[in-house]
Amino acid sequence: MKILILGGTAEARMLAARLVALGHEVVTSLAGRTADPLRPAGTLRVGGFGGAEALGSFIAREAFDRVVDATHPYAAKMHAHAVSGAARADCRLVRLVRAPWQAPPDASWVPFQSDALAAASLPDGARVFLTVGQTQLATYLERRDCRFVVRLLASPTHPLAANALPVVGRPPFDVAGELALLRQHAISHLVSKNSGGAQTEAKLQAAQQLGIAICMVERPALPPAHEVDTVEAAIAALELPPVR
Ligand code: NAP
Repeated sequence: MKILILGGTAEARMLAARLVALGHEVVTSLAGRTADPLRPAGTLRVGGFGGAEALGSFIAREAFDRVVDATHPYAAKMHAHAVSGAARADCRLVRLVRAPWQAPPDASWVPFQSDALAAASLPDGARVFLTVGQTQLATYLERRDCRFVVRLLASPTHPLAANALPVVGRPPFDVAGELALLRQHAISHLVSKNSGGAQTEAKLQAAQQLGIAICMVERPALPPAHEVDTVEAAIAALELPPVR
């Protein structure tokens, strides 16, 4: 079968590898945000489609049998486009999105509905470990009364504000490393998206151990879809016929 994976996550790469090994023709699509992405098994295409309608046309024109939306939990626009694009092409869609982290009972963990609300909640003089990616940085860095250690996947293309120190690193991260970083910068607050998964979870354990406040930006609401949270469940949900 010919399967389109809307990718950009570790789960998308794992799924591509599994489906290729099963003998399917797999195309993974990436938005193109990362300069040097890890290459999935199968064919790779990069760049936006030009909206939901264009995605639907692409699915129909390329005669995909299945679509898996395995984009990041916070890629709300792409999740919505996947639902309407697959419906336009009358193609079966499965959404693979990893389970969110749960707040440990004794953690200082406050949920926020948006980055703006999380940024506004920081007290004057907070020393913040900011792990929300590139797109919402300005919302936080305009809090000139706070200092930020900003973790990024790659060096910033232009200098950050004077109150921000970039630290570059790629997951997975471990608890020992996260503890060292939090201590080194005397961090008082951790700001995170609820990405879920093991690769970046260590920061939560480290923050909890040190009694650091966790500001958790909640996931966006997504349109209904057949949703699963593991690669195995995605393969089952695709209802693929056996490959000869
Ligand atoms: P988005 O806002 O939902 O998508 C914006 C547009 O990018 C889409 O409309 C689509 O363009 C294109 N696009 C996204 N994923 C694509 C894919 N797999 N293949 C082809 N085109 C794709 O998603 P986003 O810009 O990627 O990210 C939104 C939020 O999620 C941000 O807050 C970001 O920080 C977060 N995010 C975090 C991580 C991470 O932490 N590792 C990874 C990804 C995203 P067209 O409309 O032109 O088709």
